[in-house]
Amino acid sequence: MIYMDHAATTALHPSAYKAMEPYLQEQYGNPSGSYTLSAQAKEAVEWARMQAARLIGARPEEIYFTSGGTEADNWALRGMLWQTAPKGRHLITSSIEHPAVGNTCRYLEQMGYEVTWLQPDTDGVIHPEQVRQAVRGDTVLVSIMMANNEVGTIEPIREIGRYLRNKNILFHTDAVQACGQIPVDVNDLMVDLLSASGHKFGGPKGTGFLYVRKELSIEPLIFGGGQERGGRSGTENVAGIVGLGEAARQAAGTLPYRMRNVQMLRNYMLHRLEREIPGLQLNGSRRRRLPCNLNISIKGADSREMIGAMDKAGICVSARSACSSGKLPGSHVLTALLVPEEYQNGTLRITLGSENTKEEVDYVIKTILEFLKKKKIIPDKYSK
Ligand SMILES: *Cc1c(COP(=O)(O)O)cnc(C)c1O
Repeated sequence: MIYMDHAATTALHPSAYKAMEPYLQEQYGNPSGSYTLSAQAKEAVEWARMQAARLIGARPEEIYFTSGGTEADNWALRGMLWQTAPKGRHLITSSIEHPAVGNTCRYLEQMGYEVTWLQPDTDGVIHPEQVRQAVRGDTVLVSIMMANNEVGTIEPIREIGRYLRNKNILFHTDAVQACGQIPVDVNDLMVDLLSASGHKFGGPKGTGFLYVRKELSIEPLIFGGGQERGGRSGTENVAGIVGLGEAARQAAGTLPYRMRNVQMLRNYMLHRLEREIPGLQLNGSRRRRLPCNLNISIKGADSREMIGAMDKAGICVSARSACSSGKLPGSHVLTALLVPEEYQNGTLRITLGSENTKEEVDYVIKTILEFLKKKKIIPDKYSK
């Protein structure tokens, strides 16, 4: 099997699995207990908090573990509003956010908040100038993702952050796709809140964290026994947290090496496909792009058929495509980037990981080209 869908999830890193194992078995103490078994669990959670903090240049006391990126996004958006209520009820976000942010904003609209939805340019970039123009006296929070999960566009978070810090407006970024893929430093980015998910960087599913800048205090989303310094109640997912911590440590340690490798493979793949498929369109920005992400549209191709053919060949890739029958919704991201429907229907999202090899990439290219030739979308003379 060839796995090239790392934006959807990643395999658990072997050392994360190893680190978790004791906490699924003999080290089953509840971190809140007052005997040695509990103290050991507590210590393991705090060690993981330090690793998570390191991955984003934060302090351990600024990290709150959650059940994933979705919970972190929900919490970031809903957890500050009680404090900001006297100032106003205006939020700013973009139209290309993950549903965890997009649907939370939609809920808040129903609750009486006013939301400005910024439209990206055709590369998927939200410009700091757009944020500046959207800010009002009653703007309390801005949420813009650091990197888009479909097209891989990296947003100018630092520039937006600097402006909002001066304006004293809270700034949240969904950095789920960025953490472990590109350098992330909360102080450099000037964000107040940042979401991350364990399973996107080699940790277990069902784990994540929210960074909350130490000068701020966030209202809990989940009430109970007061775990996570009162921020997020419920007995800690000790094994999961330990796995996330070890995955964060691994991700931070190998980042430059992985970025270079994955980007080289991605560029090789893009250049070969561009050479062999006339009319291939790259979605998203060429320059401001996650190293692992390739999102292409081929006019006349049907993504579902393509993915089916690739699945048969043992390849996992994904699509966010408009269904030609019109029954399935298209991609809100590609639509925002003004990708025409006939291109959206032939979209493939290929996201590489550090375990992918050049041989695998060659095999994937060959499979795509064979499919397109069989469908007469490209002529046979392009075959090599
Ligand atoms: C995957 C993803 C999420 C959700 O994270 P989960 O841990 O799966 O809940 C949120 N935002 C982005 C950008 C993502 O890619």
